[in-house]
Amino acid sequence: MSSYQVIAKKFRPQKFSEVFEQEAIVQTIKNAIRLEKVGHAYLFCGTRGTGKTTLARIFAKAMNCENLTPESDPCNICSSCNEITSGHSLDVIEIDGASNRGIDDIRNLNETVGYAAANGHYKIYIIDEVHMLTKEAFNALLKTLEEPPSHVIFFFATTEPHKVLPTILSRCQRFDLRRITPEKIHSKLSSIVKQLEVVVEPDALNLIASHAEGSLRDAESLLDQLLCYEEPPITLEHAIKNLGIVSTDLFFKLDEAVKHRDFGAAFSLSETIYQTGCHLQHFFESLTNHFRTIALTQMGDKPLHAEYTASAKSYTKHHTLEILDYLIDALEKAQRTPFKRIHLEVALLHIIRGSQKIPLESLVERLENLKNQVPTPALRETPPQKPIPEPVTKPIKDEPPPKPTEEKAPPTAQETAPVEELPFFPETLPAATPKKPSPVLAVPTAPKANIQQKIKHEQVMRFASIELNGSLKPI
Ligand SMILES: [Zn+2]
Repeated sequence: MSSYQVIAKKFRPQKFSEVFEQEAIVQTIKNAIRLEKVGHAYLFCGTRGTGKTTLARIFAKAMNCENLTPESDPCNICSSCNEITSGHSLDVIEIDGASNRGIDDIRNLNETVGYAAANGHYKIYIIDEVHMLTKEAFNALLKTLEEPPSHVIFFFATTEPHKVLPTILSRCQRFDLRRITPEKIHSKLSSIVKQLEVVVEPDALNLIASHAEGSLRDAESLLDQLLCYEEPPITLEHAIKNLGIVSTDLFFKLDEAVKHRDFGAAFSLSETIYQTGCHLQHFFESLTNHFRTIALTQMGDKPLHAEYTASAKSYTKHHTLEILDYLIDALEKAQRTPFKRIHLEVALLHIIRGSQKIPLESLVERLENLKNQVPTPALRETPPQKPIPEPVTKPIKDEPPPKPTEEKAPPTAQETAPVEELPFFPETLPAATPKKPSPVLAVPTAPKANIQQKIKHEQVMRFASIELNGSLKPI
């Protein structure tokens, strides 16, 4: 049997100081150990390859170590540390939540909780992918978690903490692990290749680091794969070819095509991508990342590759954002479409054509400018505030004595018009001025109410005078 150990396992951190990027969490754990304030349940959350299980194991080792260092690190020499490192410890039980997710599995666990630790001080259960447990299993675990024996500690690890029951979450101290930056991954990979005494170009390591998306384990697995495939020294071309990563040169060619509006390039680039066997979804992810770098460059960030400075000039900021929007949709469609090559060509054509499109915002701005240049019609302006004149009402005595036939005559339009339909402004009152009002005029609220009242009052008075005169008039 081969004794070869994969890089991720061979170079797994064995001390707190070797854990990358999680300084705050490490400090909290160390203080808890030093001050003897260790809780009975911890939840480690975070994306894959950020060190959840690794931290739980180091914590477990530190709890049972016979010669704890002054920095609260495990000694990695004592029998307890060695047993845990080799995975043979009876006191540290690792359970895969994905394959032991049922109520019976948790019942079995509950039965063993009562037994004392074999060698160490603590009995520690590490449940990986704890979100995979069924609801019944969680409920079975809940009772133990509420009142565990003093020698028992639970470490849970999960990539999806939102799937863990709130009742479980509330009984744990929760640590959210950060993604590991490409710079840190690069530094770790450099140290690994140095220890392995193999030569790998820094650019190749950079490519792996940026491709790993914050997961150190992914990066280590990619390096493993590369070292198995190629004879050192490993170059950037080796990495591109072996890992199926799209070369950034291809993206820069696309930028050139956009600059020169070369639509034919969409088909030639598509042919190249198709022939390399690159997965369409991976291509779209890489392309999205390319435009993200361009957007960052346009916003003033210094790019890793100098070519990005020139590429950023091929696009306006608006164009870059529009492409990013489009690529997010294209990425989703790439999973479903059976016409993958056409989908790819259309996407490339869209990007090249995009430089010819006038942005909507620009059109609106132009229209606004045009509008400002045209003289504004007087009616559109808000009229100056004038004092409201009293509505012109004729005194009753001035009313011509109505003839009996006038009483039955149909009322005039002025008299029957509903109040709402009457113009609001004083100068527009029939008696005051014949000027026709504009419906776009801005009307202050308070005068409107007053005017309406007055118009109503006038109408009532007119009607009353007619009625009164008619009844009092001697026949
Ligand atoms: Zn030890």
